[in-house]
Amino acid sequence: MNTNNTPIAELNNICKQFRLPTGAEIKVLENISLQIRSGEIVALLGPSGSGKSTLMRILTGLIAPTTGEVLAYGKPLPGFHPRASIVFQNFALYPWLTVYENIAMGLEWLKLPDDEVRKRVRQAVDKVGLEGFEEAYPKELSGGMKQRVGIARAIVVQPELLCMDEPFSALDVLTAENLRAEVLSLWLDHKVEITSVLFVTHDIREAVFLANRIVVLGSNPGSIRIILQNDMPHPREMRSPAFLAMIDRIHDIITNAIIPDEIAAVTPTAVQRHIEPLPYVSPGEILGLLEILDDQNGSIDMFELAQKIGKDFGSTISVAKAAELLDFVDTPKHNVIFTDIGKKFLASDMNERKILFKRQLLSLRLYVVISGMLQKSARLNLDEEIILEQLAIVFPDEDVEKLFDTMVGWARYGELFGYNADDKVLYLDTGQETAG
Ligand code: ADP
Repeated sequence: MNTNNTPIAELNNICKQFRLPTGAEIKVLENISLQIRSGEIVALLGPSGSGKSTLMRILTGLIAPTTGEVLAYGKPLPGFHPRASIVFQNFALYPWLTVYENIAMGLEWLKLPDDEVRKRVRQAVDKVGLEGFEEAYPKELSGGMKQRVGIARAIVVQPELLCMDEPFSALDVLTAENLRAEVLSLWLDHKVEITSVLFVTHDIREAVFLANRIVVLGSNPGSIRIILQNDMPHPREMRSPAFLAMIDRIHDIITNAIIPDEIAAVTPTAVQRHIEPLPYVSPGEILGLLEILDDQNGSIDMFELAQKIGKDFGSTISVAKAAELLDFVDTPKHNVIFTDIGKKFLASDMNERKILFKRQLLSLRLYVVISGMLQKSARLNLDEEIILEQLAIVFPDEDVEKLFDTMVGWARYGELFGYNADDKVLYLDTGQETAG
């Protein structure tokens, strides 16, 4: 056990480049300095491709950095880290070995006596709840049970630092939630020798739920944007105001960092404080609602509205919410009423409507962020995949493809940005003047 406060693991000014088969070099990590100390849980949070796994592999000695220093307990790392072990996202189990044998593989290189191996494997099985499954093969197990084997194999070596590379992301939501809480309780209740945990995630809630320190990484090349301290006591309640405030703060950090100054300067002052998803509603449906509202002298009850537009109540609320998000209507108590902007929009001709719509889009943080990303990109365009990844980080509960389609539909209407379905590329619409 590490009694003084020397970091268990330390990276100083790490850079990592990979050579591609074409001979080209890609820089994956730049100037990474990070220390992992005894007693902490550290999250590496970032979009996929930001180098999180590479960073973890360098820290544990699985691969070497291109430049920079890797230390274990203050000394240069001699190959693998002597007191760290890794849990992988896809379990990495040997299909031809039983659960027992897979766990015992973790001890292979320690060359322990057989009875010590048996004792340690039994303890690990016990700690992760695999009793009765020792003789099963991986293919007979659910994803959650497979990952229990992955965790048992990592803890059987009695590491001080447990590293986990997106350990719960291949599991369904409920299984992930259970296993996450169990791993936390292993650490909190000192049921294992592990004093520190380092884990990779792209899920903000997972980071806030588990970690004491959250390292936010940006991509191209991967670098540390900020390290946040999270002192909320365990157990953390995901719906508590403090938890939600922390999530908001990280959203802000991630989104603000990708809004370039030029965009920030031209956007209206009343941009939403927090990023919000869009209701999955088309501009046509929003326009339809405004027209009905106009027929009703600018005010209608939500139930009546549902009848008029022939949709169920939930869908009607979504349309009203979409119009409200754009500040075209207000929705006091089950009523929908016009705002001045909504009235003006409806009274405008096609061209003016588009200009007004665009202006309203730019009061939504989502559009400010995405326009900012496009503006920053070399050719004012970005692959759909990159946007989907960002959306998945910021809105883990949303159907990001539906959100993407909705976002593009609105942006096309407001001629803010367009989408080329053949190349799957989103591009900034530079042909239009911004509304003054
Ligand atoms: P993350 O874990 O954040 O998704 P990774 O560390 O897996 O990111 O990868 C970061 C980048 O490095 C990706 O673009 C990936 O394709 C690239 N990369 C990772 N390993 C290699 C490798 N061995 N050779 C070439 N490129 C690699």
